[in-house]
Amino acid sequence: MDKINIKNLEIFAYHGVLPEEKQNGQTFYVSAVLFVDIEAAGKADDLSKSVDYGKVSHLIKSYVRSNIFDLIETVAQGLAEKLLMEYPLLRKVGIEIKKPDAPVGLPLETVSVEIERGWHTAYIGLGSNLGDRLQHLRFAVESLRKTVGCRLLAMSKFISTPPYGYEQQGDFLNGCIKIETFLSPGELLNKLQDLENQSGRIRDVRWGPRTLDLDILMYDSWILDTERLYVPHIEMHKRDFVLGPLSEIAPNLIHPIYKKTVMQLLEELKSKH
Ligand code: ATP
Ligand code: MG
Ligand code: MG
Repeated sequence: MDKINIKNLEIFAYHGVLPEEKQNGQTFYVSAVLFVDIEAAGKADDLSKSVDYGKVSHLIKSYVRSNIFDLIETVAQGLAEKLLMEYPLLRKVGIEIKKPDAPVGLPLETVSVEIERGWHTAYIGLGSNLGDRLQHLRFAVESLRKTVGCRLLAMSKFISTPPYGYEQQGDFLNGCIKIETFLSPGELLNKLQDLENQSGRIRDVRWGPRTLDLDILMYDSWILDTERLYVPHIEMHKRDFVLGPLSEIAPNLIHPIYKKTVMQLLEELKSKH
């Protein structure tokens, strides 16, 4: 992807763990790499189709100066989030913060942190079979729409489906959404579990009745196998109530393990019934 570079923007600011750093301040050098498709801007000679590096530089300066953090890690993280939220054309941003006068007590040129943050596409499965099911699903969608670092891109219809796994319970309302997010998979799961808790979910019976269940179905084409998180969702290819709604908004999405589209997985599942 195309890049716009801002190199070593000099900013006097007050970040540091030591009290004298917060009091006296020191000079920081901030570099940013803005990943943005600038072909259209280049062809039309039109700044509105690109990201204005002048405005970005001023925004960086005001952010770095007006906040006071212990860590340059925090400055970099906050700055990346701010830029990604502020400039819709920005797909990814790299930030480097140098602190040449860091109180290390040894002769060195500089210390620095460097991070990259960007937008990822995720699909989330929604389910509810307790209380006002529609209200719970709407609450989840609206909350994610308003979450910093999430944008809602598409939503399936909600369908009523018979219970799965544990059958002594009411029918589910299921659906799925497509979002763009700069939250990591772990942070996204935290957010989803937060919303489940806010809807009053109590975890007792596995696969039992619940006000709200929010599962990460896919996160780009990442494959994750950790204690907390399996992505793609480990059972998605076995579930009509996932593949049905998902095929409505992403029929050609490819499952990174089975290497088949959502539509193919749905057809295979139907042929097994
Ligand atoms: P299922 O995952 O079979 O649909 P469930 O949704 O009822 O069952 P939960 O009680 O919501 O299960 O979650 C149990 C655990 O599953 C969570 O604590 C979470 O750490 C883990 N988990 C693993 N992979 C995922 C994923 N892709 N999305 C959400 N939770 C996941
Ligand atoms: Mg589930
Ligand atoms: Mg779940």
